[in-house]
Amino acid sequence: MEKNAYKLAAKLIKGAKNIIVFTGAGISAESGIPTFRGKDGLWNKYNPQELATYEAFIKNPKLVWEWYDFRRQLIKKASPNKAHIILAKWEEFLPITIITQNVDELHQRAGSKNIIELHGNIWTLKCINENCGYKEKNYEAPLKELPPICPKCHDLLRPGVVWFGEPLPQEALSKAFSLAKKADLCIVIGTSGVVYPAAHIPFVVKENNGKVIEINLEPTPISQIADISFFEKASLALEKINEYI
Ligand code: NAD
Repeated sequence: MEKNAYKLAAKLIKGAKNIIVFTGAGISAESGIPTFRGKDGLWNKYNPQELATYEAFIKNPKLVWEWYDFRRQLIKKASPNKAHIILAKWEEFLPITIITQNVDELHQRAGSKNIIELHGNIWTLKCINENCGYKEKNYEAPLKELPPICPKCHDLLRPGVVWFGEPLPQEALSKAFSLAKKADLCIVIGTSGVVYPAAHIPFVVKENNGKVIEINLEPTPISQIADISFFEKASLALEKINEYI
């Protein structure tokens, strides 16, 4: 990638008044957490319909929990990488909000504060009985009991993530889209751009005359509207841009 592209990206970042950083599984790949799609993606090895739907959970809660317990253990051992850390540092002096599809909390662990989680959080456990409404943050990995049971009503607890076919949390979604309408810059990092409605966010920024910078290993549907694309690892691109910030 030409040196000028990093300089230009840094100039856009320093001049922007409202920046959103839209992240996906690719930003956590360098922390050792597998992505879903792309090369080495988890979906090449497992069938999501068997693991990440409410129907699958009701059919076999233990199997689904084993998969989430495995991922929780992986995430617990992982650390934020340079990409997460640079974004957290920028937030100290730049008007940044992170809108993430990740459920791993690595942005929080890197020190970012302005974060909207669109697909929930893997450390949240919640009761499947909506009348009960029990919810907790639980960082135990492995969990003692699979599937975990609600201490209030003794029904099943489920992971607090958004599964296929489920709506996104309403408050997070409307905050994300209203920020996208105001943003003059969207930095898209490590998302395949195919999971909707989240993937629509950079398009909303563009429609409202904002700029789009994309960082991914390979082109995605978002590349068509990107003003600058970096097809390389997130940590590498951010480190090089950071030299000009
Ligand atoms: P995805 O798996 O569909 O796509 C990952 C993208 O990241 C690919 O386009 C890939 O080319 C790119 N990528 C891989 N390594 C990269 C790197 N080092 N630097 C830059 N880009 C890299 O991920 P998505 O778009 O976030 O898919 C959405 C769903 O995946 C969400 O629902 C999310 O909840 C879930 N997910 C989350 C995690 C996590 O929390 N860490 C992990 C896997 C999947």
